[in-house]
Amino acid sequence: MAADTFASAGENLRINGDRLWESIHAIAEIGPGIAGGSNRQTVTDEDAEGRALFQKWCEDAGLTMGVDQMGTMFMTRPGTDPDALPVYVGSHLDTQPTGGRYDGVLGVLAGLEIARTLNDLDIKTKHPIVVTNWTNEEGTRFAPAMMASGVFAKQFTQDWAYAKEDADGKTFGDELARIGWKGEEEVGARQMHAFLELHIEQGPILEAEGVDIGVVTHGQGLRWIECTVIGKESHTGSTPMPMRKNAGRGLAQITELVHTIAMDNAPNAVGAIGKIDVHPNSRNIIPGKVVFTIDFRSHEINRLNAMVARFEDEAPNLCAALDVELSHEIVGQFDPPEFDKKLVQSIREAAERLGYSHKDIVSGAGHDACWVNKVAPSAMVMCPCVDGLSHNEAEEISKEWSTAGAEVLFHAVVEAAEIVG
Ligand SMILES: [Zn+2]
Repeated sequence: MAADTFASAGENLRINGDRLWESIHAIAEIGPGIAGGSNRQTVTDEDAEGRALFQKWCEDAGLTMGVDQMGTMFMTRPGTDPDALPVYVGSHLDTQPTGGRYDGVLGVLAGLEIARTLNDLDIKTKHPIVVTNWTNEEGTRFAPAMMASGVFAKQFTQDWAYAKEDADGKTFGDELARIGWKGEEEVGARQMHAFLELHIEQGPILEAEGVDIGVVTHGQGLRWIECTVIGKESHTGSTPMPMRKNAGRGLAQITELVHTIAMDNAPNAVGAIGKIDVHPNSRNIIPGKVVFTIDFRSHEINRLNAMVARFEDEAPNLCAALDVELSHEIVGQFDPPEFDKKLVQSIREAAERLGYSHKDIVSGAGHDACWVNKVAPSAMVMCPCVDGLSHNEAEEISKEWSTAGAEVLFHAVVEAAEIVG
């Protein structure tokens, strides 16, 4: 079927929303949470059990498994052209300790549902389709988040990831081997025609606006700036006001500056100071030193850099006027990913074709697709979640939302993989 034929006939191509919904809730019972969600943290026994069930479902659908040395699962439905690079579709099955049922899981099982539907309809594709479960997306047990996709995209080395320790001092590499999911494949060796990920929004915009589908054009970039303000510790009762060097005032004024910079760039940027250490943190001592981290985010790199530049321009003067000293260092930076324009357009067109309302959005959180985008054309579909709540056992979506998201994903995957015959 040529692409234009697919476009006209395609509104009839639908996935089985009930089957997808049942699978989501079946896997949620593995590593059940205490309040209706899931606790299936990466490379635990529960993770292994969830992986085994997913493997069984995939093999029942005729997919064959490859596992790389980071434990990422690649489940392949063959294509008709042996030279065509695969289209990858997936997300992650690991959860937060008090995770919801949908974060990550929806994207992996929607990939499986696409394979099941193609089997039902006896549709062949030119490119293989590979349903993917990335290891350790959440990063709670072993930081950082998006670990395996980051190694895949050559952002971290495998040895560095293996050496990461959890709170009990166990390493990621040892635990991956212990649960039996340390594969043979070299990480990052796979070439991708495309990577597509469906994810819940984890924010409130789609639900509030009554929109079915978020077409993700960008991810957020970030800059973390660690600041140290030095004043002079002295007695809060006996130091005359004009003689004080209060580092806390530097924190106060920079907090306001950060807020002002972010407000001046809203709605295309955000900013706040979250982590603060006050020294010596005593009731009757004027703070002599305050260390804090600014978090600026935007999906526009020029805007992000301009925000940092404005901070660097204005903050030292604020501190000089308070007779305190400011030093700063960029301790984290991630440039905003821009997803593949052609894939993004195919997602937009799929939503149109299927009759779902849609809007372009920016992903506020990091996702595996943000790393994979560095090595392969990638894009994301989002569906709403109730109150934007996520990383919480109360995370909720409707069956209709998951069906709509999976159908749009289905059309984008099939368009990239090209229907044959
Ligand atoms: Zn996720």
